[in-house]
Amino acid sequence: MPVTIDRELCVGCGACVATCPAGALELDDEGKSVCNEDVCITCLACTSACPVEAISEKE
Ligand code: SF4
Ligand code: SF4
Repeated sequence: MPVTIDRELCVGCGACVATCPAGALELDDEGKSVCNEDVCITCLACTSACPVEAISEKE
């Protein structure tokens, strides 16, 4: 997927979900953000929206 989300760092605040223009992010059953790689357009808006820097561009 275009972005990697560190599940240990994610606190489930939902900021990334609200920021994503493509609707690619959602919180899973454990309250952790997950990215739908088929929808993500790699705009990277979520990486700067996350307060704990849990999201990074996939290498
Ligand atoms: S990179 Fe952009 S499109 Fe992809 S999950 Fe983050 S905010 Fe959404
Ligand atoms: S903004 Fe960061 S901490 Fe908040 S739900 Fe998204 S990945 Fe998790």
